[in-house]
Amino acid sequence: MGSIRLENVSKHFGEHAVIPSIDLEINDGEFVVFVGPSGCGKSTLLRLIAGLEDVSGGRILIDGDDATAKPPAKRGLAMVFQSYALYPHMSVRSNIGFPLKMANMDKAEIDRKVNEAAKILNLTDYLERKPRALSGGQRQRVAIGRAIVRSPECFLFDEPLSNLDAALRVNMRLEISELHQQLGATSIYVTHDQVEAMTMADKIVVLRAGNIEQVGSPLELYRSPANLFVAGFIGSPK
Ligand code: ADP
Ligand code: MG
Repeated sequence: MGSIRLENVSKHFGEHAVIPSIDLEINDGEFVVFVGPSGCGKSTLLRLIAGLEDVSGGRILIDGDDATAKPPAKRGLAMVFQSYALYPHMSVRSNIGFPLKMANMDKAEIDRKVNEAAKILNLTDYLERKPRALSGGQRQRVAIGRAIVRSPECFLFDEPLSNLDAALRVNMRLEISELHQQLGATSIYVTHDQVEAMTMADKIVVLRAGNIEQVGSPLELYRSPANLFVAGFIGSPK
């Protein structure tokens, strides 16, 4: 449960081959970080996995099943975006419970799931507030809560901390790592921040111009970078 395999996956936008061809294996329960400079295709790759974009070629297998043609809701994944995309007019409770309401779950069950997620995320005292009455870190937790309630097999994070200030980023980094341990789901985490990659990942995938430059543990990449690009990227924190 929660394994993902990309076979010869490509994505073109018109003439532009944003992802020429990628093969990648992600194991159940792994924390995988996609790292690379802005514009290298990290978000596109995540959106392909999520099913928010269609592949131009290749296959995506989730738990061994071909998911290439499946709609996002059928893939067992939940995405957390950089912009929290919370509904401003709705309470924290309604924001977190929204995906379950869309799935026609009954209200008592939604409340139970929302309370459980809120407990994990330290949001219990904030459930009746509107997002504008929360701090940046709390809003990001609400966005994560909305992913947790669906009990996904895999979380997809797209630069979830880049709108937060530096101190809060360090905190949230730890929180997301702990959450990953606690929930045991696979996580794919996109960032252009080397420190995040080095501190959070079981496995780092270094991307450049839509190609994988290297895949390895933080230590492997640090000790034996495949080329100067990887060495420069891993060796020079911003
Ligand atoms: P990253 O997340 O690594 O910054 P993206 O995946 O957002 O990079 O973008 C990779 C490349 O694909 C960029 O050149 C971007 O302009 C292009 N791109 C992304 N989405 C689209 C789209 N919907 N239409 C055309 N080009 C796109
Ligand atoms: Mg991006």
